[in-house]
Amino acid sequence: MADLKLLIDTVRDELQSMQHQGKVADYIPELAKIDPRKFAISITNMKGETISTGDDNERFSIQSISKVFSLALALGKVGDGLWRRVGREPSGSAFNSIVQLEHERGIPRNPFINAGAIVVADVLLAGHQPREAIAEILRFVRIAANDDTIMIDPAVARSEQATGFRNFALANYMRAFGNLHHPIELTLGVYFHQCAIEMTARQLSEAGVFLANGGRDPRSGLTIVSKERARRINAVMLTCGHYDGSGDFAYRVGLPGKSGVGGGILAIVPGEASIAVWSPALNARGNSLLGTRALELIVRETGWSAF
Ligand code: GLN
Repeated sequence: MADLKLLIDTVRDELQSMQHQGKVADYIPELAKIDPRKFAISITNMKGETISTGDDNERFSIQSISKVFSLALALGKVGDGLWRRVGREPSGSAFNSIVQLEHERGIPRNPFINAGAIVVADVLLAGHQPREAIAEILRFVRIAANDDTIMIDPAVARSEQATGFRNFALANYMRAFGNLHHPIELTLGVYFHQCAIEMTARQLSEAGVFLANGGRDPRSGLTIVSKERARRINAVMLTCGHYDGSGDFAYRVGLPGKSGVGGGILAIVPGEASIAVWSPALNARGNSLLGTRALELIVRETGWSAF
C-alpha cells in the first residue's frame, strides 16, 4: 500500500496543472458552486485497507454512482426478473436521452442511464412508502461502506426535483408504456434522493469494495451480494457505466466503472481493489475529465485492467 500511496500522490500532483479543463455540472446551484479544483483518490484493497489523497475527507454528491447500489439492492429484491423491465445493453446515447424508449416500448436499455435507474427506483418502491425505499437504499450504502454517517443532502434532492424536467418526461413516457407501477412523483422522489447521497472518496471506495471482492465486504465479512451477482454488476458497469462514453472509458481504463455528474467515479479492479476518484469538472459526456485521466494513470502504473 505504501507504493500505491506514493503513486496516487504523484498522480494528484501531475494532474494539478490540468485543473482548468472540463466544466462543472451547473443544472442545480448545489453542484454549480463546487470548486473545480477539488480532487481526491481513494483505494480500498482486499484486506479492507484504504489509502487516499487530496480532498479525501470531503463529501460530494455521488449522483449516478448511486445507480450501482440501487441496482444491487433491486436484484436482491426481485432477482433476475428485473431484466424484464430494464435491459443490459449499452445505449450509445446520453444519460438522460429519451429517444430509444419509443422503439423499445418503454424498456430502458440499461439500469445506469436515467430511464433505467428510474425503473429500478420504481422496483424498490414496491410495497413501500417513498421514505422507506429511500431509507433502504441509504441503509444498503451504509452497510456496504461500514459507515453510518453517510447522509443524503436534502437541498440537492429538492433542486433535483425542481429542475428534473427531463426525468419527469422519461418517467411519464415509461408510465405510458406501463413500465412504472407507481405515481411518477413518488418514483422520482426515490430517484432524486438516491442521487443526493453524499460521500467522501474514502467512503465511496469502501462502499464499492464488495464488488471487487466477489460480493463480500472484506472488513465486516458480510456477503453484500452473491459472487455471481457481483460479476454481473461489474459487467454492466464496464459496458454501460459511462453512458455514451462507456467505450472510451473501457479503451482508456479497461475496468468496470460508474460515473456521476458530481464528478465522482467508482472503478472496480476484480480481485484487487476498488478505486474512487473525485474531480468535479466533466467532459462533454458528463463524466469526470480528470477523474478518468487519474484512473488511466493508475492502471498504467499498476497494470490493473480487465484486459
Ligand atoms: N441527478 C442527475 C440526473 O438525474 C444524475 C445524472 C448523472 O449523474 N449522470 O440528471
